[in-house]
Amino acid sequence: MRRFHLALPRSIDDCLKLLAERGSEAKLVAGGTDLLPQMKNGLLKPAAVVDLSGVADLRALRRQDGSGLRVGASVTAREIELDSYTRSAYPALAESGALVGSVQIRNLATVGGNLCNAAPSADMAPPLMALEAEAVIASPRGRRRVPMSAFFTGVRRTVLAPDELLVELLVPALGPRSGGQYLRHTPRRELDIAVVGVASQVTLTDGPSRSRGRRSSPSRRRGRSAISAAPPISAVTSSGS
Ligand SMILES: Cc1cc2nc3c(=O)[nH]c(=O)nc-3n(C[C@H](O)[C@H](O)[C@H](O)COP(=O)(O)OP(=O)(O)OC[C@H]3O[C@@H](n4cnc5c(N)ncnc54)[C@H](O)[C@@H]3O)c2cc1C
Repeated sequence: MRRFHLALPRSIDDCLKLLAERGSEAKLVAGGTDLLPQMKNGLLKPAAVVDLSGVADLRALRRQDGSGLRVGASVTAREIELDSYTRSAYPALAESGALVGSVQIRNLATVGGNLCNAAPSADMAPPLMALEAEAVIASPRGRRRVPMSAFFTGVRRTVLAPDELLVELLVPALGPRSGGQYLRHTPRRELDIAVVGVASQVTLTDGPSRSRGRRSSPSRRRGRSAISAAPPISAVTSSGS
């Protein structure tokens, strides 16, 4: 592996300054489970690596009363898998976190790294797309919000410019009668990556009422599903009835 300068910033502002100084010769690292193999294989040879592990503001997983969930970019797959509120309110997201690699990998692997690496096999991408989450992106020019459905521009490509950092994901609040699921297909049963991953999210907006033992009004559904697959295919579909 090529020698590189390692920076250990403590704040988002410090990260942004380092990215602005170093430009495209710098790479961010969170858990390193995607980046380090790419550096070892010689696919990437950054002159500088900016380690996000000391930036506390990226690590929060917070329930927002009435307005959903905020997931910091450096929250790990294991934290998402185990968080009791995420498991009950956003089961598709919790299920996707639980499927990433092994426990050892999940303790390091972050949601930000999973999304910014932009592999078609990224397990946490389809649920966040189906949940209509937004990415909060910081740069020296300020902050912007990008819907997850517009975050990926191709295989291993995202809307992020070299001087930008993913700060967090904003996951909207769901109605009381909501459900979601994430399923994937892998050729091997253990420690394999998805050939195809499908997330779905449904909310019943108008519950069935019963009259003399009969259902008198049907439920209306609002649903969204997201599919990612290798070779590169991705789709988001919405429906309402
Ligand atoms: C053995 C093994 C098994 C795996 N199994 C799975 C699996 O089952 N499912 C799956 O989806 N993945 C799997 N992976 C891939 C990997 O673990 C995940 O994609 C993980 O979530 C990456 O997160 P990380 O924090 O390690 O990313 P890193 O390696 O630290 O970073 C990945 C990329 O994202 C960029 N980045 C990181 N954070 C930010 C940020 N905040 N803003 C902007 N850019 C950022 C980095 O610059 C880098 O380009 C596996 C990997 C290994 C080694």
